[in-house]
Amino acid sequence: MSTNDPVQRQMIREAMQAVAQRKPGRSKLVYDKTKRTIVAVTEGAQTPQALNITADDADMFGVITVSSEWLREKWPELNRAGILPVAFSSWDDGDALTQSELCVQASPITVLGTFLLDQYQAESSQGLAILLERTEASSSKPDVFVSPEGTRYRGQIVQPAQPSCQPSDIVFADVEPQLALRRSGILETTILQDKTVLCIGLGTGGAHVVVELAKCGVGRFLLVDRDRLSVGNVVRHPGGISQVGRLKVNVVRDLILEKNPNAKIEAHALEVGFGNKDLISELVRASDIVICGTDNRQSKLLINELCITANVTAIYGGAFRRAYGGQILRVRPKHSPCHQCFVAAMPEEASDVEVSSEVDANEIAYSDQPVAVEPGLSLDVLPIANMLAKLALLELLADKSSTLNTLRRDFDAPWYLWLNRPEPGTPYADWPPLSESSDEMTIKRWYGIYFDRDEACPVCGHFVASLAASYGLDPSLLPALPAEE
Ligand SMILES: [Zn+2]
Repeated sequence: MSTNDPVQRQMIREAMQAVAQRKPGRSKLVYDKTKRTIVAVTEGAQTPQALNITADDADMFGVITVSSEWLREKWPELNRAGILPVAFSSWDDGDALTQSELCVQASPITVLGTFLLDQYQAESSQGLAILLERTEASSSKPDVFVSPEGTRYRGQIVQPAQPSCQPSDIVFADVEPQLALRRSGILETTILQDKTVLCIGLGTGGAHVVVELAKCGVGRFLLVDRDRLSVGNVVRHPGGISQVGRLKVNVVRDLILEKNPNAKIEAHALEVGFGNKDLISELVRASDIVICGTDNRQSKLLINELCITANVTAIYGGAFRRAYGGQILRVRPKHSPCHQCFVAAMPEEASDVEVSSEVDANEIAYSDQPVAVEPGLSLDVLPIANMLAKLALLELLADKSSTLNTLRRDFDAPWYLWLNRPEPGTPYADWPPLSESSDEMTIKRWYGIYFDRDEACPVCGHFVASLAASYGLDPSLLPALPAEE
């Protein structure tokens, strides 16, 4: 319906307004079958060769989305000058214009425009011009903006971005209240806004966990990973092909912001090791919970030590090789076995890790035996990531009231086991088929498993006293250990 005819353009604007308000106006839009285009005609005109376009057809028009929060913030400026510049990301050949402030990933094409409070200023504005007009319509409608004084406005395009630009619906998005509304009933609005999650290791599992927690409304994230996203990661990782080469901490930061635009995020592109123990220790102390998704035993044991010292709960998740299954260990300092106790109690389980990258393969292959990179399917990693996110959520809700707290009695074991398939060569190869068993262990079920703390654990137990006792010594007579190595 591109046209340069000013009369036709004015009629299209009036007709669009009538369509948006779902009531008859002075002109209406019709599809002219002979001209094969949409034209505006006077309301009541007989148009036998044309099809009426009604409000139900309005979805065919593009949408301009504006941030209400941004417009309220800028309202004094608009009130003073009568005009306010605005920028949009243009998607799908201009079919959707999304205000740049709402875009974590911007479109390569930007459309500049202005908001106006008086029509006459349209002459002085360049590009897209949107006039804000007072309305009595309900403030709950998506096309109604409520100013800080409580006055309601609707937007009307008085000058399109290009002469051929299609008319569009203008929608005002109140991001935070709309996101919170979808969670209410399960998780009350801002309940997790003040919680901080430290995630170390942002592979497929870790990245999924933090994105899920962002959707739940967690407000602050500290992200640690040394790696960059590679092409091979894309089939599993939530980051996509256009993110390849970027640091995973930055890819995941943007994924979180896409889901929770108000989240506060710190990205640390570093490897966990004794060299940066002080920084990691600082991050642990600043967190309400630590999610550990690294495959490397040394880093897990270091994180374990720092979390026990700082009295912060940590959850370790990992897939077994080629993701035939996976496990989760939750360590509540003073209340459950720690990761060091786990390694002592179940050395085989603790060492059965998925080899999903060259770096992991090289770390595991110390000897002449090379280790192949054998990553599993994303589908097999996600059940483990989902469970880990749920356990993390329960920990974060411990001091809050939530319907999810009824799950607490179900999830009180320290260790959780999940099998995707009865992998040959493992202790689970002979598990009965899922369809035949109701009381034996099978695949595709979670098992919460208890084991005891190691009283002689050097991290969470009484190592010196146990050692002394085994030699028949009085521990109070032993010299104190040095504080650090
Ligand atoms: Zn321990």
